[in-house]
Amino acid sequence: MEKNFGRRFEGKVAIISASTQGIGFGIAERLGLEGAAVVISSRRQRNVDEAVNKLKKRGIEALGLVCHVSNAQHRKDLIKNTIEKYGKIDVVVLNAAANPSVEGILETKESILDKLWEINVKTSILLLQEAAPHLTKNSSVIFVSSITGYHPGRGLAMYGVTKTALLGLTKALADEMAPDTRVNCIAPGFVPTHFASYLINDDEQKRAIEEKTLLNRLGTTQDMAAAVAYLASDDASYVTGETLVIAGGMPSKL
Ligand code: NAP
Repeated sequence: MEKNFGRRFEGKVAIISASTQGIGFGIAERLGLEGAAVVISSRRQRNVDEAVNKLKKRGIEALGLVCHVSNAQHRKDLIKNTIEKYGKIDVVVLNAAANPSVEGILETKESILDKLWEINVKTSILLLQEAAPHLTKNSSVIFVSSITGYHPGRGLAMYGVTKTALLGLTKALADEMAPDTRVNCIAPGFVPTHFASYLINDDEQKRAIEEKTLLNRLGTTQDMAAAVAYLASDDASYVTGETLVIAGGMPSKL
């Protein structure tokens, strides 16, 4: 049965990067079901079209654009088209990431280090620089970090370190963008998406991850979306500079 959500984002405009599937799409869907006009994007036009159709079928106002986060012109066009259509931005969710290597940090090639920093950290800053002049008073920015930001373990180490950087970025930008814009972050645990498929498709590895949670299950894109919706809404109007761990009780911080 379809859940009935509130309408906390009626009249609001939300941009979610890297959002044609997985967690980003789940966030767009949730904000849209709560009344937001959502702007979704990713690298491939076909994925953008399919995702927009899915959202529209659910009665969501959606604009879809191709935006490879590393492409400066794409970032500019994403914001320009959003403003031309909706005139403002209330919520920005920075969700893009890459994890091109499972090597140890000392074995990771410079080109891979560059890619990790670029996609996982730098492009989110650059996209936010484009969006910032159009943010409304009482706006909200949310980074998507990871539980690996707290524990950058083997196989995910350098990726995890870039996610640790987002925790610091959240604090720094919360200060810089106050009081009109709140800046928060989520740190998802493991969610079965395309991104995590190499971990989740192996039954033994999947069970090992589930056993690390207190709730004995992986996360869902809806779990992540619900947390973002909270942080982006007025329900979190006194919350800024924080990271919410959504990981079924996996060890994170005290
Ligand atoms: P996903 O299901 O693989 O989806 C990734 C989305 O990003 C797709 O829509 C993809 O579409 C788009 N994309 C990929 N590279 C892009 C780029 N360079 N520029 C623009 N769009 C791009 O991934 P996910 O698991 O939802 O991951 C989303 C975020 O959650 C990431 O920041 C990830 O680090 C974080 N996270 C995930 C997990 C997990 O277990 N899944 C755990 C912790 C954190 P196109 O292919 O069309 O570009």
